[in-house]
Amino acid sequence: MDHYATLGVPSSADAAQVRDAYKRAALRAHPDRARGDARAFLELKRAYDCLVDATARKRYDAALASRRARPLAETIDAEEMDVVCVMMGREGERGASGGVDAYARACRCGDAYEIPVAELQRLRRELHDECVLECGGCSLRISVRLKPIGADEAHASARVARA
Ligand SMILES: [Zn+2]
Repeated sequence: MDHYATLGVPSSADAAQVRDAYKRAALRAHPDRARGDARAFLELKRAYDCLVDATARKRYDAALASRRARPLAETIDAEEMDVVCVMMGREGERGASGGVDAYARACRCGDAYEIPVAELQRLRRELHDECVLECGGCSLRISVRLKPIGADEAHASARVARA
């Protein structure tokens, strides 16, 4: 997940667009709100602080470009991944409070590529058609193809309508 995707802006976004996107998203995710999400809020803040600073952004863009230059280990569909419960962020016992459902794919290094289900749904809603995941344990990357939102839902309701 790069900073641009976190904020939902194109990599060509100017400072004003970055600021607007941050304000909108931060309001939604603010921990004081009933449906706020402290982790998402921190991610947004981190992305914003980096992209709004011209020097930091230049450095970040360079790092991103060299990361993107690495070859992909494979390209798969999201449906080919396993759904698992993972701890995101901090260590602790797995449970309702800390665990989230995530799509996972084993990497050949023994570690795994992971993306929270909610995150992937958000990308689909924002009309991304693929997302690149990095292995937690090595430098390999995979690309996950995302179906447009509504594709399987429409399919399911068509089946219901026929029945
Ligand atoms: Zn790996």
